[in-house]
Amino acid sequence: MDVRKANRMILILIILITITLIVINVGSSPDEGEGAGPPSAVADGDGGVGALADGGLFPKLINLGKDATGLGREADGGDGDGAAQTPGLGDQSGEDGSPPSARPTPPEIDLEAVKPNESGFIMVVMFHKFAESFTPTQADPGEYIMTFDAFRDLLHTLYDRDYRLISMSDYLNNHIDVPAGCVPIVFTFDDATSSQFSLIRNGEGELEVDPNTAVGILLEFNETHPDFGVKGLISVCMKMGIFSGIGTVTEKLAILTGLGFEIGNHTTNHTVLSGVNDKAVLQQLLGENQAMVNDALGSYDMEVFTLPQGAMPPRDIREYLYKGWYETTSYEHKGVLLVGADPARPPGHVDYSREIPRVRASGVKLVDYDLTYYLDLLLRSSEYVSDGDPYTVTVPANKADKMDPDVIEAQGRTLRIY
Ligand SMILES: [Zn+2]
Repeated sequence: MDVRKANRMILILIILITITLIVINVGSSPDEGEGAGPPSAVADGDGGVGALADGGLFPKLINLGKDATGLGREADGGDGDGAAQTPGLGDQSGEDGSPPSARPTPPEIDLEAVKPNESGFIMVVMFHKFAESFTPTQADPGEYIMTFDAFRDLLHTLYDRDYRLISMSDYLNNHIDVPAGCVPIVFTFDDATSSQFSLIRNGEGELEVDPNTAVGILLEFNETHPDFGVKGLISVCMKMGIFSGIGTVTEKLAILTGLGFEIGNHTTNHTVLSGVNDKAVLQQLLGENQAMVNDALGSYDMEVFTLPQGAMPPRDIREYLYKGWYETTSYEHKGVLLVGADPARPPGHVDYSREIPRVRASGVKLVDYDLTYYLDLLLRSSEYVSDGDPYTVTVPANKADKMDPDVIEAQGRTLRIY
């Protein structure tokens, strides 16, 4: 009888334990369900970045899980910019403040060692002409001419001092993707001269970039320093002709954009705008140039306007620098490039301006406020030092008041203060 009773007790206990276990399981599963799906999906796709332990990454993990296509594009080569610059693809990297579709998890960094400062200055460098050699004269001391050898030396200097190229588009859209501890820099080339870029025919009769041009030298440099970048904005006046030499306009622009360069608007014929008072004339100078670039490339939206000689039109028609219309062509510029003379602020900084200052590349004759001047005098502590994550804006606590949290949020970025 005792044995029977004991057996019944054991049976009841087993049933109770089973029921309890089932209840616990059912009760806990909704909570787990929210988190369990996306992280495991990310762990699959993330290929050993190894930063999944960070609890603060949860929103990013969900984003990653949702957009496998975007993840693939970003993960592909660490240089999605080439694709983003291709005509027609320019709207894929989270412009217009919309959250980007993919947020790869960046490696954790030691903030105290790297000292990221994403409130600091970014130099947008303005290049004009290059030459094999140049003899200064009284009439032209060579302020705007750089020798090819000086350009080669400059690339080494910039690289050794941890500068890395970003595109103008990435600058404007606050998608600054350089390794942690590196300093972004933007190259701009005005007037589309043949010393900046031209084409030659190789032995098979195919068009190739002339190695004795700035673009050729930059390509050559990237063979040994592939993480420096092949990027730059080339501002064109389509009615004045671009890059004299062989090849059609379409071939030249298509090769450049295919390499990762961007095209900027510089008016049809280099009109100095301080003398333009009519908004219709201003829109024709900019809109017709956009139409001619469209004709050459099928479709290509220029994102910036570069002021010829840095001259602004009268204040009452300035808005047409940013947005306008000529015949059937509209244009919209996110920034207007000035000629002088300061390093620029990053988007999200309280002093950021759509009128973007540029630092003049050093010519044969050095002058104050040129690139050599800033490379000598600009303190690293005042420059933009990257945290390695294009989606997080990291600033030290003593610079936090220099950033606008609302703007940064609208850009789809996360502000991190340390
Ligand atoms: Zn110009």
